[in-house]
Amino acid sequence: MIRNEIAYLSLGSNRGRRAENIRRAISQLRDQPDLRIKAISSLYETSPVGFKQPLYLNAALKIKTSLPPEKLLECLKKIEEDLGRHPGPRWRARTIDLDIIFYGRRLLRARNLVVPHPQFRFRRFVLIPLLELSPRLKDPKTKKPIGQILANLTSPDQKVRLKK
Ligand code: AMP
Repeated sequence: MIRNEIAYLSLGSNRGRRAENIRRAISQLRDQPDLRIKAISSLYETSPVGFKQPLYLNAALKIKTSLPPEKLLECLKKIEEDLGRHPGPRWRARTIDLDIIFYGRRLLRARNLVVPHPQFRFRRFVLIPLLELSPRLKDPKTKKPIGQILANLTSPDQKVRLKK
């Protein structure tokens, strides 16, 4: 058993009932014995990065967990699978995306897990909800405050608005 670590997760959905998918993912996380949810950000509606697809809903979570990072990733993948599975003969595309953004101040570079998440510094839809949760949070790799990373971003096409 390792000591509890604070971790930050990013959640996103752009298929089906997006808010419901995010709520269900949070509720499944709440049922995990080795994990406690400390804070949940607002929901944000965000334009997709890359190819054309429906708008996303995004949120961030602050958790405390005794799961080591690989076990936490396994847990997230299981929830993604559970929620992405629909009745009927076919599996539809994933309805929820769960990422580990920070795990304490650790820097991890395994084949299947990179922490801090390799893309988070370029993504407004991750930075804005994170900033809402913990305005003084710093990137453990570059040591820069996330507010500064956000302020220096140059990707004006990435729209993020608070979902009422
Ligand atoms: P994606 O569907 O784009 O979120 O990619 C999921 C895959 O990225 C997973 O199978 C993970 O093995 C890998 N991955 C690498 N680093 C992370 C991270 N920090 N959080 C979540 N998944 C990660």
